[in-house]
Amino acid sequence: MARILDGKTIAAQIKEEIKAEVKKWQAKGINPCLGVLLVGEDAASAAYAKFLEKVAAGVGAKFHLEQLKKDAAEDSVLAVIDELNHNRDIHGILLLLPLPKHIDKQRVMDAILPAKDVDGVHPVNRGYILSGGQCIYPATPLSCLEILKRSHISMDGKHAVVVGRGETVGKPLLYMAVAENATVTVCHSRTTDLSHHTRQADILFTAVGKPGLITKDMVKPGAVVVDAGISEVDGKIYGDVDFEGVKEVAGAITPVPGGVGSLTTAMMLKNLLKGIAIQDALVELKVN
Ligand code: NAP
Repeated sequence: MARILDGKTIAAQIKEEIKAEVKKWQAKGINPCLGVLLVGEDAASAAYAKFLEKVAAGVGAKFHLEQLKKDAAEDSVLAVIDELNHNRDIHGILLLLPLPKHIDKQRVMDAILPAKDVDGVHPVNRGYILSGGQCIYPATPLSCLEILKRSHISMDGKHAVVVGRGETVGKPLLYMAVAENATVTVCHSRTTDLSHHTRQADILFTAVGKPGLITKDMVKPGAVVVDAGISEVDGKIYGDVDFEGVKEVAGAITPVPGGVGSLTTAMMLKNLLKGIAIQDALVELKVN
């Protein structure tokens, strides 16, 4: 029976570390603050903003919400991003999606200062994932790797198979796995014979959004299975992996819920602190 990689316990550890780091910044006169921009009235986004406010307060960080009406012009949204970029008291900017249809999402995301891009979506941060530089990585692939690190599972020399090549999870994850010295195969909707590839994985990542896609017969005995998929069916949350079946053959497995998704907010707050370090270094550079 597989070892269950419990995301909730790991997230709690990370939040304690963040709390301590927030205090360190405060002792230096910097009060970490997460800025969140909500355009329109999407109920899930509004609820997520409230949740983030609570999580930020839980680690001692400040929270600043900017709200614009659903008919706000794109230029008004860009003007708010510009204000947040220049506000030295705000250290990270999270743009809540979806945006109203008349707004060009990419244009708005591109306007966020890369050092304040807590979601790791800016093209500069994306580019650094390829070149391996110091940058802000997106929270979900970071969470996948963090679960492994904190569970003392090394990727070095292992064959990692990533199912899904989406912009949010699969694509950044495959480059991040290469940087961890894994040999990586990526699969997607056009892959023929998916199970041929998944059965070769020492570490199998899935980021698709199809419940039950990965079944027991598709997993090598003893493999580590990290499920980033999230789908809601009849009010219940499922991953991509048939958890009950796969846990009988895998060596370790993340549950859904309670796995990768439990870490993402904590990793985003880690990004806030990483961004502060980058901003602090940039100010030092300007001063000296
Ligand atoms: P996405 O952009 O829609 O990407 C889905 C990927 O799955 C695509 O690359 C697609 O292939 C591939 N795919 C679809 N059907 C497939 C099949 N039958 N076999 C193999 N591959 C298949 O989605 P995303 O934004 O990357 O998100 C992926 C999943 O992660 C979703 O369930 C999402 O809810 C979840 N997610 C979780 C978190 C978290 O906090 N845990 C955060 C963000 C997203 P093509 O490229 O060929 O279309």
